[in-house]
Amino acid sequence: MDKAKIDRILGQVGKPVRYMGNEYNMVVKDPSEVLINFAFAFPDVYEVGMSHLGMKILYHLINEREDTYCQRVFAPWVDMEQKMRENRIPLFALETGEPVAGFDFIGFTLQYEMSYTNVINMLDLAGIPLMRRERGKGHPFVIAGGPCAYNAEPLADFLDLVVMGEGEEVINQLLDEYAEWKKQGADRQDFLARAAGIKGVYIPGFYDVDYNHDGTICSVKPNRPGVPSVVQKRIVRDLEKAYYPEAMIVPYMNIVHDRITLEVFRGCTRGCRFCQAGMIYRPVRERSASRLMDLARELVKNTGYEEISLSSLSTSDYSQLEELVKQFMDEFQSRRVSFALPSLRIDSFTREFIEEMKKVRKAGLTFAPEAGTQRLRDVINKGVTEEDLINSVTQAFELGWDTVKLYFMIGLPTETEQDLEGIGDLAAKVRECYMNLNRGRKSRRLKITVSTSSFVPKPFTPFQWVAQDSVELLAQKQEFLREKLRIKGVTYDWHDPELSFLEAVFARGDRRLGKVLLEAWKRGCKFDGWAECFNYSAWLEAFRASGIEPEFYANRPRDKEEVLPWAHIDMGVTTAFLRREYEKALRGELTPDCRGVCHGCGINRLEGGLCP
Ligand code: SF4
Repeated sequence: MDKAKIDRILGQVGKPVRYMGNEYNMVVKDPSEVLINFAFAFPDVYEVGMSHLGMKILYHLINEREDTYCQRVFAPWVDMEQKMRENRIPLFALETGEPVAGFDFIGFTLQYEMSYTNVINMLDLAGIPLMRRERGKGHPFVIAGGPCAYNAEPLADFLDLVVMGEGEEVINQLLDEYAEWKKQGADRQDFLARAAGIKGVYIPGFYDVDYNHDGTICSVKPNRPGVPSVVQKRIVRDLEKAYYPEAMIVPYMNIVHDRITLEVFRGCTRGCRFCQAGMIYRPVRERSASRLMDLARELVKNTGYEEISLSSLSTSDYSQLEELVKQFMDEFQSRRVSFALPSLRIDSFTREFIEEMKKVRKAGLTFAPEAGTQRLRDVINKGVTEEDLINSVTQAFELGWDTVKLYFMIGLPTETEQDLEGIGDLAAKVRECYMNLNRGRKSRRLKITVSTSSFVPKPFTPFQWVAQDSVELLAQKQEFLREKLRIKGVTYDWHDPELSFLEAVFARGDRRLGKVLLEAWKRGCKFDGWAECFNYSAWLEAFRASGIEPEFYANRPRDKEEVLPWAHIDMGVTTAFLRREYEKALRGELTPDCRGVCHGCGINRLEGGLCP
């Protein structure tokens, strides 16, 4: 690739640093000296992709291999894409500027459904045939992983391989197999057949889907011998010993999370019934505080960052959190290295803990009651009470915070008007709590933001069978809340219900939706998660042109006997457990945190059982 050609257009686009590479700690190799060139593709802009922990881990892990060079590629923003197309510059990797079409693999991470059109757009910009059937000798293998890969069926026509579960476990096995295959010079199908033998690798082309007359799925079956009828996810057995990079790339521009990220543990035992992450990342595996301190020291030394953030689901559940926080403060406070915690559960705020946090966190605090009444919080198994919330905000206000954010979901199963009213009532009570503490004196400083997202039923959750509220109903609920939340000091934020509707369509979609993705992309849809790019009417046209009704996917309850599009994927937690949880939800029964008592979710069938 003529790098000068790229350099010439950089002056004509916004944020050219997105496309320049050469950051501190970028891995430099000679692509002609390695056997395998791997493009790690993030289907969103640089500053979003560079904040993603999975990319940081896999980029450095793959580059540990002498025979492989992993480079990065992000979705070029609209202005850059236009210049690239005008100047016939194909999609290129940041490290070398080489076109990714010449690589051995292009590996997409699928973090959210609304990035799917960007996957297609990036393949097109690269000059790689969009459909897997059209790819042949000399084309890269298009591979995907990440949370949405557990139901990658809407992208089944575009992907050669999908990795189920934790990439660290699979990637080296896959690359070893590829290295063997490449040396032998066998054909493309031969590599896919070899890859299908690796646990956790799913080859969409090796499965046929049959449909019933009513449009539901009749069966998903392998179409060749030697292919597993069910693909089981992979998990890292021992997180303490698992690879973690001791250096991370330091970008030259602001990114969403511009700091060191330390993953303290994986998995969650709380069992919130709407939460896909809480199910798919089981079981819980922790890193010790001493391992995290060692990593923190190395990362601070190797990056120069002055902020570390802890990452995991429900970080307050980390068994060594207080010890870790104390060690951090003792060692790093004098060196002016601060640390940040993600949002915490509202029943986890001890006064001492908030005091520690106050030393490092000046911005507002986020609390997530998720639902407005205790009845609905029990349905979703949130396991927190109004008292927990009031206690936590009281302590926060007493320690000087004036800004809090309250996070809720609307459209949850069994929701009534009373539950929506409950959201307004909670906001009013939080305000009252502040006013009582400050006797009205500093009320002008108070800022309560109530934020609602719309419930999206996700695969592999107890609510995977539930219908989503229609766009119209969600809009009415938001209007109701706008009225209810006209309270001094309270602002209301909401998510676009049309976007949530499309998320629901693709989250539980099947491979027939590939047509819609293609039609939407042809109509200019890309960066659909960005309000300035989202074009709902183009999406509706794409559904019409494909003869597919989106409501069939989003607004239809599934029968418990229905074959779901992901029926051939085993993510560990069993369907029987999910069903039990769904039925308990309808009865308003709680399932307590399983660190006390195991509820037999099924994950212990994997890797000989990792839960005690
Ligand atoms: S196997 Fe038991 S303890 Fe482990 S995650 Fe499942 S329910 Fe919890």
